[in-house]
Amino acid sequence: MPDGWIVSRFGGDEFVILCPATEDPGPAVAALSEVLRATFRIDGLDLRVGGSTGIARARPGMSGVDLIREADTAMYRAKEDGRGGWAEFDDQMQAMVVERLGIEAELRGAVARGELVLHYQPLVNLRTGRTTGVEALVRWQHPTRGLLSPAAFLSVAEDTDLIFEIGAWVAAEAARRTAAWRAAGSPSRVSINVSAAELLRTDVVDTVARAIAEAEADPGDLMVEVTESAVLTDIEATVLQLEGLRALGVGVALDDFGTGFSSLSHLRQLPADELKIDRTFVAGLGLDPVCDAIVTSVITLAHAVGLEVVAEGIETEEQRSHLAGLGCDLGQGYLLGRPVADPQRLSAVTPR
Ligand code: C2E
Ligand code: MG
Ligand code: MG
Repeated sequence: MPDGWIVSRFGGDEFVILCPATEDPGPAVAALSEVLRATFRIDGLDLRVGGSTGIARARPGMSGVDLIREADTAMYRAKEDGRGGWAEFDDQMQAMVVERLGIEAELRGAVARGELVLHYQPLVNLRTGRTTGVEALVRWQHPTRGLLSPAAFLSVAEDTDLIFEIGAWVAAEAARRTAAWRAAGSPSRVSINVSAAELLRTDVVDTVARAIAEAEADPGDLMVEVTESAVLTDIEATVLQLEGLRALGVGVALDDFGTGFSSLSHLRQLPADELKIDRTFVAGLGLDPVCDAIVTSVITLAHAVGLEVVAEGIETEEQRSHLAGLGCDLGQGYLLGRPVADPQRLSAVTPR
C-alpha cells in the first residue's frame, strides 16, 4: 500500500484499508487482487485464497461507522458478482440499504400482528401418484403491498434477529396444522424450512420440540429441510442439531441439493432421511446432458446411502416421467400441485 494508507485487520478474514479521499484506490485494489490470486504452497498442497473488495468514499458529516458499513455493503455486492472482484458503493446500493431498513421495520412485529401465513405444496410419490406429505412455505401478507414471497423479505430477516421469531412461528404453525389434520383423520407429514442462521445461532431442536409439545403433534408428522450450504458452514455443530431433531422423531431433508459446493463425502456423515434435488437440474432434464448425468448420479448416490430422493420444480409431464424412469422416489412442482393457502382440509392441497 502507498505511504500514508492504513491497513488494519478488522475481523477473522476482513481487512480495512483507509486511504486519503484525494487518491484513486483503483490501482491499489487491482494490485491487491493480483496478490491474492496467487497460489500458496503449504505442506505440499497448492492452496488458493481470494478476496473481494468494497470501496466507499467519505462524505461530509459521515461517521467512520457509516463509512465502514458502506464499504461492507459494496464488498457483499462484489462477492455476489463473483469472487475476486471489487465494487464501489453507489446510489443504487444506498437505495437498497434504505429499502432493506424499511422492510426490517415493517417486518418487526409482523408475526405478532398475524401477517405471516403458510402455504402448502404437495410431495408426490412418482410411482403411485399419491401425496406423501406437504412442504410449508412462508408468505407475508403485507398490509399495503399484498402477498409477498420469501424472496422479498427472508434475506432481511436472516440478516437480523427477525428470522428467529419467524422460524419459531413457522414451526409452531406447521405443528398446529399437522396436528389438526391428524385429529381430522387425515394425517400428513409437513416439512418446514430452517435457515442457516437458525441452525447456527439457535437451538432448533428446542424450538421444534416446543412447537410439537404445544400443538400436541406427532413428531413423525414433521420434517425439517436444511440447505447444504447451511450444513457446510459448520458441519459439526449442524450434525449435532440434525441428530437432535431425529432423536425427537422428526425427519431431516437436505434441500436444494447440488447448488452449493456439495462434498459428496459429507452425505455419509449427515443424519438425514431425504435429499431434494434442486429444480435447476430438473429444469435441464432432457435438454442438457450434464443435468441428466447429475440427476442420474445423485439419485443413485442418495439411494446408496439410504436417502429418499425428491425432485423439486417438476413443471412438465416429460420431467415427471423422466424422473420416474430414473427411480426418483418423490416429486414436487407446479405440475403436481402449486402451494395452497390456508388449507383447512388436507384434500385442498392434494387435489388428485
Ligand atoms: P425451497 O425450500 O426450495 O422451496 C421450493 C420453492 O420452489 C418454493 O418457492 C416453491 O413455491 C417453488 N416451487 C415449487 N414448485 C415449483 C415449480 O414447479 N417451478 C418453480 N419455478 N418453482 C417451484 P418459495 O415459496 O418462493 O420459497 C423460496 C425459498 O424460500 C424456499 O425454497 C426456502 O428456501 C425459503 N423458505 C420458504 N419458506 C420458508 C420458511 O418458512 N423458513 C425459511 N427459513 N425459509 C423458507
Ligand atoms: Mg424447502
Ligand atoms: Mg428447495
